[in-house]
Amino acid sequence: MIFGSHNNSKAFPEKKEFEKFLKDRIPFYNLYPTQSNWKDVKEDKNYIKELENLYKSEIIPSLYLHFPFCPKQCYFCHCYTVISKKEDHYRQITKSITDELINLFNLIKKITGKKKIKINNIHFGGGTPTVIPMDLFSEIMQIFKSNLDEETLQEIAIEVDPRNGMDEKKLLKYSELGINRISIGVQDFDDNVQLAVNRINSFEMINGLLTKKVRESFRSINFDFIYGLPKQTKESIKRTAEKIVELNPDRIHCLNLEHRPDVYKHQKAYKETDLPEMYNKMEMYQETTEFLESSGYERIGLHKFAKPTDLLSKYKKLNKLYRNPNGYSPGWTYNMLAVGPSSTGKIGDYYFQNIYSLDDYKSTVSKNKIPVIREKKWSIEDGIRHKVIMDLLSYEKIYPKKVAEQFNINFEKYFHRELLNLNEFIEDGYLEFKKDIEEYTVTARGSHFINNICHVFDSYSDLQYASHREFKDGVKSFDRSRVLKEI
Ligand code: SF4
Repeated sequence: MIFGSHNNSKAFPEKKEFEKFLKDRIPFYNLYPTQSNWKDVKEDKNYIKELENLYKSEIIPSLYLHFPFCPKQCYFCHCYTVISKKEDHYRQITKSITDELINLFNLIKKITGKKKIKINNIHFGGGTPTVIPMDLFSEIMQIFKSNLDEETLQEIAIEVDPRNGMDEKKLLKYSELGINRISIGVQDFDDNVQLAVNRINSFEMINGLLTKKVRESFRSINFDFIYGLPKQTKESIKRTAEKIVELNPDRIHCLNLEHRPDVYKHQKAYKETDLPEMYNKMEMYQETTEFLESSGYERIGLHKFAKPTDLLSKYKKLNKLYRNPNGYSPGWTYNMLAVGPSSTGKIGDYYFQNIYSLDDYKSTVSKNKIPVIREKKWSIEDGIRHKVIMDLLSYEKIYPKKVAEQFNINFEKYFHRELLNLNEFIEDGYLEFKKDIEEYTVTARGSHFINNICHVFDSYSDLQYASHREFKDGVKSFDRSRVLKEI
């Protein structure tokens, strides 16, 4: 099916259905328990204990590095970033991130007594990690080379900003240093939308970067783009999606704009009246989904698409797709070490988050301490609910039999209340129960409400949803003049 042809499709819910489900603010379940339920901590003892347990159990984690600077503010952004064009700022924070990394690696070596550390994949995110000065970036890659077990390390990825002097030479340098996957922030190609969100990157700019040599140098190329942006229309997003398909990335991440000007003050820079109306926005997502599927991409899960040849598609078919704090991952684990200000990881039974404020982060790292500020220990019940929620996000299914076997529970009794609540979704045609195989499957109509179905299994749902930037440290980090003065 192509653009514009789905409107009579019964698969697409009516406006009143979206109004019913999208009226309440509920968390997005890339983490469970969600951050509203995490507690501030003053020490790193639980972090160290969990790290010991993880490496003793021989589970191999992923690693995420968060670089917190960007040269310019995109108005839609909800990442943790500080705006600065000064290379000195980039150098100072990269130095602290490198120190944190070395401290962490030394700790792991002490635990295992081995010279080489097992990590299965690494992701540089931000912020804009591609503004890290190349000499410092090379140093980090050298630290990986000397400390990591090359047998287990399968992927090193970086988020690429196509602006700020990015060119073929720089991309090939990343490849030479060991990066084998890139993710490019496209967001939207329409001139009016780009002006409204303060981010100009043209089709020609990105086409010019993706030369034959560049394409051959990386095993996978991802594009991020956003629906629901100011000035976006069904026609403009259609043109953007067509250009994206023409550029032929392996993966596409089609994100929903999180409009929270109460938290992200820079979102006040565009007019609310320029935002597409809610139903219009959902139609944009539906039409984009149909277009990408008709163009050879498979839907991996909520907002994610990949070619059948990409690892994500292959691992989904093998039932080995995980969703860690950083998104979908092919065959890695849920466990993720995280370094850099504000980064979020999962180790064993805990989620951990690093300090946001750059000065506090730097001084904690300089004392050779883990800069953790917030944590959440999973109870056994949290683990069971996490499994159900992540199966919904990765496979759009609930597997009562498998969950019952894995956790030794009677699924029907354990989730008696939740199963009653699911009836509403079954009656509305969003979910089907197949008795013969004892599985619940989300229907095409229901795919727009997966997050609401996940919400049924959230035992903390009575607590009000809060953005992690509403925590004391997160709010403090919004004071950018202070942040820049103190660094
Ligand atoms: S969208 Fe990316 S480049 Fe833009 S401000 Fe956010 S982190 Fe920086």
